[in-house]
Amino acid sequence: MQKAGLAPKGDNGYLQTFTVREGKEPGEATRLSINNDKFTPGEQFVPLPFSAEKAAKGEVLPDVKEPDNIWLIDVQDMELNPHAPPLPQYQRKAAEAAKEGASGVIFFNGKEDIQSIANWLDENPKQLAIPAIWVNGAISKKLKSDDANGFQINLEVAFKAAKRTGTNVIGYIDNGAPKTIILGAHYDHLGYGEDHNSLSTGEKAIHNGADDNASGTAALLELGRQLKSARFRNNNFILVAFSGEELGLFGSKYFTAHAPISMAQVNFMINMDMVGPPGRRQRITGGRHRHLTAMDRHPGRISPGRAEAQLRLFGCRPLRSYLLLPGTDTGTVFLHRYAQRLSQTQ
Ligand SMILES: [Zn+2]
Repeated sequence: MQKAGLAPKGDNGYLQTFTVREGKEPGEATRLSINNDKFTPGEQFVPLPFSAEKAAKGEVLPDVKEPDNIWLIDVQDMELNPHAPPLPQYQRKAAEAAKEGASGVIFFNGKEDIQSIANWLDENPKQLAIPAIWVNGAISKKLKSDDANGFQINLEVAFKAAKRTGTNVIGYIDNGAPKTIILGAHYDHLGYGEDHNSLSTGEKAIHNGADDNASGTAALLELGRQLKSARFRNNNFILVAFSGEELGLFGSKYFTAHAPISMAQVNFMINMDMVGPPGRRQRITGGRHRHLTAMDRHPGRISPGRAEAQLRLFGCRPLRSYLLLPGTDTGTVFLHRYAQRLSQTQ
């Protein structure tokens, strides 16, 4: 944005930072040892979000559930309902154990991977009176080994606050006009798929998001460059790259509530998402993602005339307008036309 000559319009230069969510993570005192082996929180075991911040220890025999001792709970025996969220089911089980006198619970032999369990720490369920943890496959194997001597278990749970922030990037073209057009595109994707929003079932891997939404972000920057040098100056422009979109439109919600200009000045907004690949049927949608038109029978192609007609249609709509630009190798031609069209829009 700086290279394109846009002025910074965030809270801190171009940046507008916001809190995505607040949760917790294992605190320093969190520990687990079984016999002489010590394990690492977050890597080998995770305290569950409903756990008490307490310690428990005992000599535990597998399959023996006695009062004032730690209970080992085999997740495979719990018959989890796959259609219901697992966390409340774990919580119910732990609450039952607490009621029957358990001094702590260890869930083992679960199917989830440790990262998805760790994500539960963003939830804020009611805390129980006893510590509760989830352990990974290697520890589960140990606990299943049916050691007749039992296990010397020492555990403690503590939490500390964890905060996740996102950062929008905002640039401005001030043409001294009464109205401002907002152009936006989200620049986040799915990271390593750690937030349960990946379609991939394979190994943990980076999701680069070339189409969703490096394409929209690139179009945004190119529009900024062209609009900065455009001949017509009927509008000012705010260009915003949103963060936290995939997690639930966090960036655009925050931007809307903390916009750097008065919303009364906004002419309209265009959001660009997945404008990249050729061969896909493109859509222009308006309002709250309401499907307006399946644009063309020829996948990936929208005649400039029709696209501009759509743009005109949105021209007098308030902030909620939503537009997908066509992809294909003709994208830059379209971008040039859009830039021209935008700079002339009243
Ligand atoms: Zn997207």
